[in-house]
Amino acid sequence: MNALKEKILRLIAQTGPISVAQYMQIALSDPEHGYYMRGDPLGKDFITAPEVSQIFGELLGLFFVQAWEDRGRPARFHFVELGPGRGTLMADMLRAAEKVRPNFVETARIILVETSPSLKRIQEETLALRRVTWLTRFEEVSGDVPLFLIANEFFDALPIRQFVRSERGWHERMIIAEGENLKFALAPDVVVPSHPLAAKPAPLGSIVEINPAADALARQIGERFDEQDGVALIIDYGYAQPSFGDTLQAVKNNAFADPLTEPGEADLTAHVDFSALKRAGHALGPITQRELLERLGIEARAERLKKENPGKATDIDAAVERLTAPKQMGTLFKALAIFEDRETPPGFEDAH
Ligand code: SAH
Repeated sequence: MNALKEKILRLIAQTGPISVAQYMQIALSDPEHGYYMRGDPLGKDFITAPEVSQIFGELLGLFFVQAWEDRGRPARFHFVELGPGRGTLMADMLRAAEKVRPNFVETARIILVETSPSLKRIQEETLALRRVTWLTRFEEVSGDVPLFLIANEFFDALPIRQFVRSERGWHERMIIAEGENLKFALAPDVVVPSHPLAAKPAPLGSIVEINPAADALARQIGERFDEQDGVALIIDYGYAQPSFGDTLQAVKNNAFADPLTEPGEADLTAHVDFSALKRAGHALGPITQRELLERLGIEARAERLKKENPGKATDIDAAVERLTAPKQMGTLFKALAIFEDRETPPGFEDAH
């Protein structure tokens, strides 16, 4: 049995069943055996948009240059990324930004928020020639200058709580031990989850999910824009309207896995509820990743890249397809902009 599973079984024996949120937190972030603490999962277990193609980061780099210009090119500002993975996105954004506005890159204070020591080491290599500050929590980012923030596939890693409808009402979904196995079970007491669908009648067995950590973080980001100019762009897979359903998922070696069998050995995520994040402040969206990338000019950028690298034309087309096709990442992935409500961020002109 894996060591983290033993640890969780011991915890349950001592303190009783744990919530899905506690389980997710331990499986991803246990200091010794947590999934993100162990090594580099990107590429091995799953692949993210910046790892699919440099075009993704380049377009986002231009997004932030434009947003910065629209705000009068503030001389001091923070350029923050939450959960930077291998550092690829930040490297691509900076390279593209530097070509059009060297000043943006020279004046940015670049801050990466990362909890994983092993991914931090990889980010140090990727960004070796840049002046970068690492922090482990967004709260540590001081709020005294304008803020430009990107989070790609970060919110999906924050721990959700789940509630299941029975004849009596809503019960929190918990994790219990059965011999050497971990299993889902319902807490006996009836509660009212703070979810818009929980107040209405729901079919038996319905599941609602809430993400207190994600909501609190989005609120903190939103509050920064009460004081400061700036834009936060949140890109992730998820849903635009409050919905029922169990979205907890484990992925290992690019395939779905059972979330309870090997804690710490599979990535564990949940779909992002954009309608909940949107309550954080002035926000537009979500729009689909396809809409965002098309409005930022992915077609033109791909054409130029193909001219520069004719031998790579097929790969470039395949990458664009992967990022924008509805059956791939184009519509499941969405983008939400939280900002100070002065200048509409590029690509969000028609968004609500
Ligand atoms: N944004 C990157 C990586 C996504 S994977 C990309 O698009 O490729 C999720 C990232 O978030 C990893 O870097 C992981 O270590 C980090 N992470 C997960 N939970 C975190 C937390 N609570 N605080 C800070 N970083 C976290």
